[in-house]
Amino acid sequence: MLYLDNSATTPLLPVVREAMLPYLLEEFGNPSSKYYSKAINATKAIEQARKNVANLLGCKPEELSFTSGSTETNNMVLKGVTDYYQTKGNHIITSKAEHPSILDTCKYLEDLGFQVTYLNVDKYGRVSLDNLKNALSDNTILVSIMWGNNELGSLNPIEEIAALCKESNVFFHTDATQVVGKIDFSLEDLPGISFLSCSAHKFHGPKGTGVTFIRRDEYGVPVPLTPLLHGGGQEGGIRSGTLAVHNIVGMGKAAELANNYLEENILKLKMLEEQLTNILNAKFGRKIVFNNDKINKVPGILNVQFRGVNNEILVKKLAPVIAVSTGSACSSSKPSHVLSSIGLPLEEIRNTIRFSLSHLITEEDLMVFKSL
Ligand code: PMP
Repeated sequence: MLYLDNSATTPLLPVVREAMLPYLLEEFGNPSSKYYSKAINATKAIEQARKNVANLLGCKPEELSFTSGSTETNNMVLKGVTDYYQTKGNHIITSKAEHPSILDTCKYLEDLGFQVTYLNVDKYGRVSLDNLKNALSDNTILVSIMWGNNELGSLNPIEEIAALCKESNVFFHTDATQVVGKIDFSLEDLPGISFLSCSAHKFHGPKGTGVTFIRRDEYGVPVPLTPLLHGGGQEGGIRSGTLAVHNIVGMGKAAELANNYLEENILKLKMLEEQLTNILNAKFGRKIVFNNDKINKVPGILNVQFRGVNNEILVKKLAPVIAVSTGSACSSSKPSHVLSSIGLPLEEIRNTIRFSLSHLITEEDLMVFKSL
């Protein structure tokens, strides 16, 4: 079976699994216990992982707190910043094409009395800088715009948004879950990004682990926010709970590999995307329509309409040979809000499936389409 649902999750690399195993077995210590070797080794492994993830993101290790993944990080930033700064303002700006972990958190915040602007997006799911400029007010405390869209792959103009937010003195959070390991960037060059979310399982690390990037100023002081989880004070008090050492080690190893092979992996993904596009065009011609943009996107995501074909039936039919999804795995039972935000009618949404590649796939693997 050819797995083409890598935007939902990626397979764990064998070398990542090998790196994790000792921390599930003999090195099982709780890093908070501090004084004996099993605890010290766990702490060392965590700090090494933190450095590896920081190298991949281009930030300082102390700017990262480990979490259970992007859902938690998105909740942590949105709830934490709005709670901490509620006396400064009560307005948040986001977009209609965000992940449910942003949109549902915003709905929750609206119930608490915050005002949320949901920016419209263009036909590929991108926000416009002018719309953002017009939405900013003295009351705005946070802007949260995703870097790469999980269904269409489109990249938002993050550099410009970050610069605008910095100039306007507003905190900017970006959900970078789909871009880490797939585009080349460095947080050091983007001082307007105050917070960033990412999840290890999207770049061949384990599920249930991610980081929150929280920018520190020149004096080493992090942007303050109210913690989501209170307790033992781990991660500098910002995220309590015993650290999942094995998972964090896995994320560190996956980050090291993603960083070392970044250019190579990007080239491979672009090449595979082009090949899959050609195969689909040759095989289905006018029976398909690509909803995704061809440029300025996360490499390896294709969002394709099969005219007149019900996507759930198609996905089920393909399942023994090719694993794909009808859109985001997180909300596949409902018609995609992302495709609806770009103006696609319900009928076309119900004809659409997402193919998402990984650098582990070979050109030969894609030949399976020819035999369909
Ligand atoms: N944001 C985006 C853009 C995503 O694609 C996902 C995963 N589908 C998440 C957030 C949530 O990540 P996780 O399930 O790892 O918490």
